[in-house]
Amino acid sequence: MIKLATRIQSVPPSITLTISAKAKAMKAQGIDVCSFSAGEPDFDTPQHIKDAAKRALDQGKTKYGPAAGEPKLREAIANKLRNHNNLDYASENIIVTNGGKHSLFNLMLALIEPGDEVIIPAPYWLSYPEMVKLASGTPVIVDTTEATDYKITPQQLRQAITSKTKLFVLNSPSNPTGTVYTPQEIKDLAEVILEHDLWVVSDEIYENILYDQAEHLSIGAVNPQIFERTIISNGFAKSYSMTGWRIGYLAGPVELIKATSILQSHSTSNVCTFAQYGAIAALEESQDCVQEMLQAFTERRKFILEKIRAIPQLSCPTPMGAFYVFIDISKTGMNSLDFCDKLLESQEVAAIPGKAFGADSCIRLSYATDLTSIEKGMNRLADFVNSI
Ligand code: GLU
Repeated sequence: MIKLATRIQSVPPSITLTISAKAKAMKAQGIDVCSFSAGEPDFDTPQHIKDAAKRALDQGKTKYGPAAGEPKLREAIANKLRNHNNLDYASENIIVTNGGKHSLFNLMLALIEPGDEVIIPAPYWLSYPEMVKLASGTPVIVDTTEATDYKITPQQLRQAITSKTKLFVLNSPSNPTGTVYTPQEIKDLAEVILEHDLWVVSDEIYENILYDQAEHLSIGAVNPQIFERTIISNGFAKSYSMTGWRIGYLAGPVELIKATSILQSHSTSNVCTFAQYGAIAALEESQDCVQEMLQAFTERRKFILEKIRAIPQLSCPTPMGAFYVFIDISKTGMNSLDFCDKLLESQEVAAIPGKAFGADSCIRLSYATDLTSIEKGMNRLADFVNSI
């Protein structure tokens, strides 16, 4: 028997990836699965982005590049953050990573020391605590409830801070709940972070997917003091439907970016060179594709919410961003793992158990899928709930 390293022994595999791979495999076997599992837009990557990557291939952009990313892409990202988010970054503040997940992982490895505490509001995206553990840190989970729209309050944040707290993880719009902090709420959290000299990482991967009157304020734009304590994580997967391309980025103080670049130079080297040219086109060319996808998500959100609200045993807050609904299933008397297992087994509907996100009385559905599948899947979900 192999004796694995302690650091990996307590880390479970990512349930989002496991369940979505299972649903895809069932589909490949000809099973009519309705998958609400992965947060993966069903649209093809926009043509102009693919064309730019193809051109780069033809032009021989097939060699090693700088570990921190193609200079042109780092510059395009800095411009985007300056113009779109009001964050005064230069190229040297940016590192291009293998997806948003990798940027967060790099950050944890570069910033967290054994014993450092990282505050994570629950429900959380399932990889945050595991990344902290892999970096030998201690995740400190702060539970939030539907009553506060699954938002951590400044009081809760203050109470969770100890002398060991190093970092606070903010994710707005949020995966899995779809909650969006208002600009005032962001300012109030910034105050607490500054009072205690913490670092904040703002995961802004869903920043472009906002509904109704929701507004995204990047915490680093609140004032120059919090800007100094902020690290931004973002990527191209959700806004431009580029999940398989694996391109993300981290923005922050030069010293930190240099440290993550050293990590990358010994681990992954550069992100796929020609893929980075697709990302440059995504940022520099028309943003109409982002708006078109948002329109489709808006329609799907309305539809799925109507379907959920027609099932009396289920409830959920209205998500203001991202493409998830986080449904309370406690009235069914089942826990989230049993619920999702039986739903997949009996109705061939894939959903993610809330337990993976730190909320066992809920399940997450991703509506980044077409309306026909949503309708079919929701009818099956209603049949399932009625049969309990
Ligand atoms: N972030 C997406 C999700 O939550 C993709 C899967 C993953 O990376 O966890 O479904």
